[in-house]
Amino acid sequence: MQKKINELTDRLNYYSRKYYVDDAPVVSDYEYDMLLRELKELEDQHPKFRREDSPTVRVGGAVLDKFQSVRHEVPMESLQDAFSEEEIREFGKRIKESFSDANFVVELKIDGLSVEAEYVDGKFTRGATRGDGITGEDITENLKTVKALPLSIENAPRRLIVRGEVYMPKQSFADLNTRREEKGEALFANPRNAAAGSLRQLDSKVTATRNLSLFVFNLQLCEGREFASHRETLEALKEYGFPVSPKYRIFDNIDDAWAEVQALGEIRSSLPFDIDGAVIKVDDLSMRREIGSTSKFPKWAIAFKYPPEEKETVLREIQINVGRTGVLTPLAIFDPVFLAGSTVEKATLHNKDMIAEKDVRIGDTIVVHKAGDIIPEIVRSVPEKRPQNAVEFRMPETCPVCGSSLVTEGPVTRCDNSECPAQLTKNIIHFVSRDAMDIDGMGTSIVEVFVEKGIISSAADLYRLDRDVIANMERFGEKSADNLLRSVEESRSRGLDRLIYALGIRQVGQKAGKILAKKFGSLDNLAKATEEELCVTEDVGPVTARYIREYFDNPKNLQYIEHLRNAGLNFEDKSEASGTKLEGLTFVLTGTLPTYKREEAAALIEKEGGKVSGSVSKKTSYVVAGEEAGSKLTKAQALGISVVDEAELKKMLGIE
Ligand code: NAD
Repeated sequence: MQKKINELTDRLNYYSRKYYVDDAPVVSDYEYDMLLRELKELEDQHPKFRREDSPTVRVGGAVLDKFQSVRHEVPMESLQDAFSEEEIREFGKRIKESFSDANFVVELKIDGLSVEAEYVDGKFTRGATRGDGITGEDITENLKTVKALPLSIENAPRRLIVRGEVYMPKQSFADLNTRREEKGEALFANPRNAAAGSLRQLDSKVTATRNLSLFVFNLQLCEGREFASHRETLEALKEYGFPVSPKYRIFDNIDDAWAEVQALGEIRSSLPFDIDGAVIKVDDLSMRREIGSTSKFPKWAIAFKYPPEEKETVLREIQINVGRTGVLTPLAIFDPVFLAGSTVEKATLHNKDMIAEKDVRIGDTIVVHKAGDIIPEIVRSVPEKRPQNAVEFRMPETCPVCGSSLVTEGPVTRCDNSECPAQLTKNIIHFVSRDAMDIDGMGTSIVEVFVEKGIISSAADLYRLDRDVIANMERFGEKSADNLLRSVEESRSRGLDRLIYALGIRQVGQKAGKILAKKFGSLDNLAKATEEELCVTEDVGPVTARYIREYFDNPKNLQYIEHLRNAGLNFEDKSEASGTKLEGLTFVLTGTLPTYKREEAAALIEKEGGKVSGSVSKKTSYVVAGEEAGSKLTKAQALGISVVDEAELKKMLGIE
């Protein structure tokens, strides 16, 4: 038995470290909680084997050494958890036996990171993580970037300490992971880990970009003011201007409280943030004092944890996708299942190591869930249900698209042929995309057809398109050929930052494009820069610098750049003298303007901080229409977007 306890203790401590310190959990919370329960039961039966470092005696959360430590004036306790109705009823019974008139508050259990914020004379002075409940980390600067947190409050007591949960909204989590995947960075497992990872950044500027939010759920200390109930404290917190935990309700019996817990579970996937349970708390504060706490959690509250929404399905196929940078990504295709609000049938398996780690085989029954209720993910296979003909997956030995040999870098498999049609097509799609060179009319399927028919074999060929050839192609005509050529024409004068981004250098995103354009001023200077010179900011760190250098050291890329130069693309950063008159506005130009050529108007708009796009969408602020304006004008009118003429544009630019 001692062996089993030791084994479980080590395993859980390892999981805890991955979860709290590295923000990279290796098992689901449910799995962790079940193992923890098992350990607790074994320890209760054999207390002499309980180790001092057992996870059952810790609140959890080691204090990192890179932040200053903060000792909490009021301990930040954890919560006892429950996984069944029976446990909730027992809790209710126990409370009612001591206090028959007790009321229960039911709140959402938001899945984020517990923080404390202190105010002196109404000014936010310090923020801290929970850490081990007694000592946490000083994250004042980082917490200041969370816009939901008031930095000053009116009619404040001399000292006030509040406790809340910092979380990452589901959408921000999905966006963040998409960006990280593009940059080849490790993905966050769920919004909670993303929130924790974002809040524990040593550079608070990074935290500021992560779109974190906050709910306050407890008043830890309020000098000079007395409260009788939790409800009163929440109302006071609202008056002070805090975003208080939403949807809390109060009941005088445990039946209704339990019904509410279940009802909240039903709406779980429709909430814009992740919850992992609901908390039932005794409302009356004097009752709470009498009921007291254990060393780890208060005895007047209990958290019901919802089981994760997981479903079994059958893995039918593993497809291979070759990305823009040549990385081969296995994609699992399984029988459709309805999960957390939508039907899913595929999930990325990232790389060969992950497939091996999860031991998934084609034909296997697999368990799927949605990370953060959004991103479909395979949790594990079910080997007990494995059919005899299940097939072990092997990465192909050659690129499935071009047949070239593959290289392996750690877990990543890559096609090394930069002329691989898959890379080529995806590179061109990236080049013409809205945030890059924004060539309207060159959608994914058109790029694919052009590459297939040999009309283009690199983005540089776009600048040599033959009008007659295009006009005679299926789905094209004279007019659409002209429109396409006009968009191509307009793209020649796009800013250097967009061109850098459009080249598709590994890890160079839009932001890095802007930073590099400003710092180096021209594409030629950038191409000559050393790795040290290239390390500019967090967005362009040593790894990105190496990729940039590798890109410009490759003769094929230099040749491609020469083609782009010959096509007359803008290689210089002209944004230097830019104003801010049109900042945040997006313009679409259509028709012939009386005096300006379209490229001139676009350059003037961009100089004043505006964006010029090739197509009208809800995001368009103004359409500038000249003579013979076509479908863009009609679309703008249909969407109710303001249409202006050249004279009005000049006024906006401050020219007349
Ligand atoms: P907990 O998350 O179960 O509950 C306590 C926390 O709930 C508090 O710290 C508080 O911040 C939060 N909370 C949110 N809304 C609240 C509300 N309305 N009222 C009160 N509290 C509220 O306990 P814990 O000790 O913070 O962490 C244990 C959790 O960590 C478990 O869910 C466990 O599964 C997970 N864990 C997972 C792994 C893993 O490897 N997956 C490892 C270690 C821990």
